[in-house]
Amino acid sequence: MPDWQDIAARIAAATGEPFALRPPQHVGGGCINRAVRLGDGRRDYFVKLNDASQLAMFEAEAAGLAALAATATLRVPRPLCTGVSAGEAFLAMEYIPLGGRPGADGKAAAGRLLATLHRASAPAFGWERDNTIGSTPQPNAPEPDWVVFWRERRLGHQLRLAAASGYRGRVQERGARLLEGFGALIDHAPRPSLLHGDLWGGNLGFDAAGRPVIFDPAVYYGDREADLAMTELFGGFGSDFYAAYREAWPLAPGYAVRKTLYNLYHILNHLNLFGGGYLAQAEGMIERLLAEIG
Ligand code: ADP
Repeated sequence: MPDWQDIAARIAAATGEPFALRPPQHVGGGCINRAVRLGDGRRDYFVKLNDASQLAMFEAEAAGLAALAATATLRVPRPLCTGVSAGEAFLAMEYIPLGGRPGADGKAAAGRLLATLHRASAPAFGWERDNTIGSTPQPNAPEPDWVVFWRERRLGHQLRLAAASGYRGRVQERGARLLEGFGALIDHAPRPSLLHGDLWGGNLGFDAAGRPVIFDPAVYYGDREADLAMTELFGGFGSDFYAAYREAWPLAPGYAVRKTLYNLYHILNHLNLFGGGYLAQAEGMIERLLAEIG
């Protein structure tokens, strides 16, 4: 049982505003963590809880939210503090009611603002610290060459995790071929863009004013196409979103093929997190990509 009064006191210290806690309300829907809404009738905060060993994950999430917020583009919950209380790790952030419906311009605004977010750049691909994708470690050591980054820190990393979990046959053999050859598909000179990193539909919402909000990131600097690809992986964000994004920052030819290369990372991650059902999908994607390389 977390020490709610302790967490409330730390939130008050972080915000500099008094916070007289009322009994907490649990929020459903998270994949990885327990989530609680803490309020005192005037202010509300969103608190994620996990085992004390997961403190670094929450620290990285807080840093990611801060990096996204610093771009002043898409709205993100403002992180307030992290720590361990009564043996549990917590991350406290601004509570944003996310039940809103997109305003008439909401989806287009999300596309436009994401393109502006992607203008935030860095000298290399990667990030200042490692983080997690789902609950899987995501290595981000900076690397100036995108092909090397995607090979070592993304696809190669997930393939190694899969091998350690016993997925050793065809997916490894064909995956190794893909790692050698996929550089041929990267002919569009990607530059390091600040990415949300886990931008599926479940991590986009709309606030009470109908403005888009993104949350639960796995931030790093990478090819912006990787963020866009993930928006398409589980359903898509709608034609207004894509039209607005492309108007703000057109995409290079070849995206349709690279989309599969980038989403393969998430499907391999799903294989590692959830098991065998994703094996056939990963293998199918690898074969399609190998066919493109020829
Ligand atoms: P997990 O890391 O466990 O996947 P999420 O960060 O996705 O958890 O949060 C779980 C759910 O809680 C989200 O789907 C969203 O509906 C809601 N949520 C997330 N962040 C906030 C927030 N700052 N304010 C209010 N609701 C939030």
